[in-house]
Amino acid sequence: MTQIEHIPCLIIGSGPAGYTAAIYAARADMKPVMYQGMQPGGQLTTTNEVENFPGYPDGVTGPEMMMQLEAQAKRFETDIRSGFITKVDFSEGVHKCWTEDGHEIHADTVIISTGASAKYLGLESEQHYLKLGGGVSACAVCDGFFYRNQEVVIVGAGDSACEEAHYLSKLCTKVTMLVRRDEFRASKIMAERVKNTANIDIHFNTETLEVLGDGQLVTGVRVINRSTNEESEIPCTGFFVAIGHQPNTAVFKDFIELDETGYIKYAQPGTSKTNVAGVFVAGDAADKTYRQAITAAGTGCMAALDAERYLAAKGH
Ligand code: NDP
Repeated sequence: MTQIEHIPCLIIGSGPAGYTAAIYAARADMKPVMYQGMQPGGQLTTTNEVENFPGYPDGVTGPEMMMQLEAQAKRFETDIRSGFITKVDFSEGVHKCWTEDGHEIHADTVIISTGASAKYLGLESEQHYLKLGGGVSACAVCDGFFYRNQEVVIVGAGDSACEEAHYLSKLCTKVTMLVRRDEFRASKIMAERVKNTANIDIHFNTETLEVLGDGQLVTGVRVINRSTNEESEIPCTGFFVAIGHQPNTAVFKDFIELDETGYIKYAQPGTSKTNVAGVFVAGDAADKTYRQAITAAGTGCMAALDAERYLAAKGH
């Protein structure tokens, strides 16, 4: 029979939200156990240089920053484990969680910091340059700066794509926006702003066929206009994908309230509380607006402090 492990604090996910929660929880003597999840370090491990996290005047690479956060969490004896949580039962006072190999954990508090994953088109060439850090990105705020005074292409037609295209238009000489249908999905005001920006060129009914490059760096994209079936090439050094994010929250859906797109709903704005007492959320799993490492870290801190107060009120 497998032994059930009872712990004061379980942290699920290892991005900036999870590690910050771990640092605070460990220093408050809550003996946190962290399961790192499918992608240890989270989304930042797929970015290159991070220049906007305060305290790094010379910048830092995403993977390096995550290693430092992990080291800081370990310094205070966070029990960091590889593996992920595949099932939960939050129907009773103690929160039951199971790992992929069937290990059962009963946690007094749970901090969900499972993040979100950017959606990509799934083209081989896109994945090739994404992995190399050669010019494919899903975050204009993170990476736009590297393409200043250059020409970029962005795919998508929602609010995110419009916001990011507008952001890029201030840095780049030209932004070409690829919209797969003949209209935007974005709100009218966001779409109008894009349409009224001189250096944003919008191609409707247009899909990406291939990201072009020299093997190392992106040099353009090959696209097709679906209404004319005409193929063409657009030169660019950066290819931005802004077709939405998928929050990693499916495992919690039977117990935790999610919004219509799968993001966890805060039960009480201004806190990290979910609808289940003792279960808190931090980072992108509940944030479709800001999605920054620094905001994730901030909410990680909030979740640990809220969990600590919850335990204290229970007399732990
Ligand atoms: P959305 O799901 O709203 O939009 C995704 C866009 O990507 C759609 O236009 C979709 O096209 C397009 N798309 C999806 N798959 C592909 C593909 N394979 N090829 C080409 N295009 C594709 O995601 P967002 O991230 O934009 O927004 C998520 C939520 O966050 C929304 O509710 C939005 O309103 C909100 N938000 C609000 C902001 C604000 O108010 N400031 C800023 C950012 C987001 P199609 O339309 O054809 O389906």
